[in-house]
Amino acid sequence: MTLYTPLRTVAASAVMTLVAWPAAAHDDAMQIVASFSILGDMVEEVVGDLATVTTIVGPDADAHVYQPSVADARAVAEADVIFVNGLGFETWSDTLIAESGTEATIHVATDGIMPIEVDGEIDPHAWNSLPNGVLYVRNIADAVAEAMPDHADEIAANAEAYIAELEALDAETRAQLSELPDDRRTVVTAHDAFGYLADAYGLNFLAPVGIDTEAEPSAQDLAVLIEQLQAEGAAALFVENITSPALVEQISDETGIEIGGRLFSDALSERGGPATSYLAMFQHNLGALLDALGSDVDG
Ligand code: ZN
Repeated sequence: MTLYTPLRTVAASAVMTLVAWPAAAHDDAMQIVASFSILGDMVEEVVGDLATVTTIVGPDADAHVYQPSVADARAVAEADVIFVNGLGFETWSDTLIAESGTEATIHVATDGIMPIEVDGEIDPHAWNSLPNGVLYVRNIADAVAEAMPDHADEIAANAEAYIAELEALDAETRAQLSELPDDRRTVVTAHDAFGYLADAYGLNFLAPVGIDTEAEPSAQDLAVLIEQLQAEGAAALFVENITSPALVEQISDETGIEIGGRLFSDALSERGGPATSYLAMFQHNLGALLDALGSDVDG
């Protein structure tokens, strides 16, 4: 791959010949790459200003079906530390990493998490429970402290402060969702991204598409889901930020169940949106669920 190796040479010769080179592009800061926006935000919370964090799959984008760019390959090649979600989420990451020739250490943020299975497949969306989010943060903190031992104290302090915020939101989520009556706990989303949230907080999520956005639902699967919803009902339907709303709109039309809002499942929102960090995303999703399932529970 001639693409990657000349970059450092070009940078070095540019410096030697005193050609202007953007100072931030090749500074001495540790270069960390995270595979998708939610993970990238967690890494930024832990490292603060100690490292430069590059995210591959950006806001509002679908990591299940992502196609890496040349810029992604360059970021991976130049990285010192790389974080991926694992559990089969980033089907493209092994090839990207192998072909980049990177010497970075590779860390799986879900190490130690108890995976859940959906229809015999491992569900990769482990971040959608806050206790799992705490495990992600501990894994990230361990990895970056190992990479930057001189800054271990600062990294540990950042991680502990962040974990305290995640645990406070977890307690609030449990308290608020526990108030919902049993018949207001079934929710429909486009793809099956909230199994960990359902397990952690006692909700029931149904989806016409499985845990991977790549597959289209068959007409028969869709008919079965619509029949089930017509018979048993659901408290709310939600569109997602990373998938087309068409399928959920169709289910709404056929069942008469209203669309209760938008959930952020696999990616943060663009800047200025309601979910620009993992914490803000979880707060937004909690608020959207409470608004749709029982707006008087916290009042
Ligand atoms: Zn997903």
